[in-house]
Amino acid sequence: MKNVIVTGASSGIGEAICRILLEKGNRVAGLARRTEKMSGLKSDYASNFIAISCDVTQAEQVLAAKNQLLDQWKQIDVLINNAGVGYLGKMEETPLAEWHKMFDVNVNGLMTCIHTFQEQLFNSRGQIINIDSVAGHEVYPEAVVYCATKHAVRALSVGMEKEFKGRIKTTNISPGAVETEFHTHTTHLEKAEQMEKQFSNVLKADDVARAVEFAIDQPGHVAINELTIRPFK
Ligand code: NDP
Repeated sequence: MKNVIVTGASSGIGEAICRILLEKGNRVAGLARRTEKMSGLKSDYASNFIAISCDVTQAEQVLAAKNQLLDQWKQIDVLINNAGVGYLGKMEETPLAEWHKMFDVNVNGLMTCIHTFQEQLFNSRGQIINIDSVAGHEVYPEAVVYCATKHAVRALSVGMEKEFKGRIKTTNISPGAVETEFHTHTTHLEKAEQMEKQFSNVLKADDVARAVEFAIDQPGHVAINELTIRPFK
């Protein structure tokens, strides 16, 4: 049984990760802004699931979450950085505010969580799992800034693997297209319509959650550092 934090637990991949880990008897804390969307997890798993209202771009909210969890759990074993947004479209047709928002959540929010929880993870010889993307390995037109955020996530994962070696396990998971709410973030109408088609009949959130479970379930001497998952069709 591990004490696991999942950011972005209110939908899609984050919710699926929570479910699979709770099903295995772990204790899970879900961090997201829309706590009402985590009420299903709360009613299904009662005291093993804690829903915390937390915007990862607000360092004081992440710190408050840490303090609450240390009071309740004492120890933190796994941090899963999953919260993320993608506003796609051509660079010249998308607002600067959307570029900044992607960096705020996908990169700065993720770094805030790592910085806030790293001491506890050193203490528990724990694990950090970053939900990256194939967009962290390749660069696609009409998703350039999103790809830049996910390249940054991958650089952080690779760097942590070297710096934290033997002290915190690090895992970078890079899914291809997954059927979630993700494609609904995009405000660029033409791109949004195209994504609606592209994001059906692809990976399911559960497919990514199983990879997370696999990375966590390894024996103490095994670290899964990098996984890439693509739809097979
Ligand atoms: P969803 O839109 O379904 O989920 C995104 C989650 O992130 C929500 O729970 C949302 O919660 C949370 N979130 C967004 N902003 C914040 C914030 N400021 N603070 C805290 N939580 C936040 O998308 P997915 O499940 O698909 O995305 C999860 C991760 O997977 C993302 O990092 C995404 O980049 C990555 N990914 C997705 C792919 C896909 O095709 N769907 C492919 C590859 C990677 P709330 O709004 O309640 O705060």
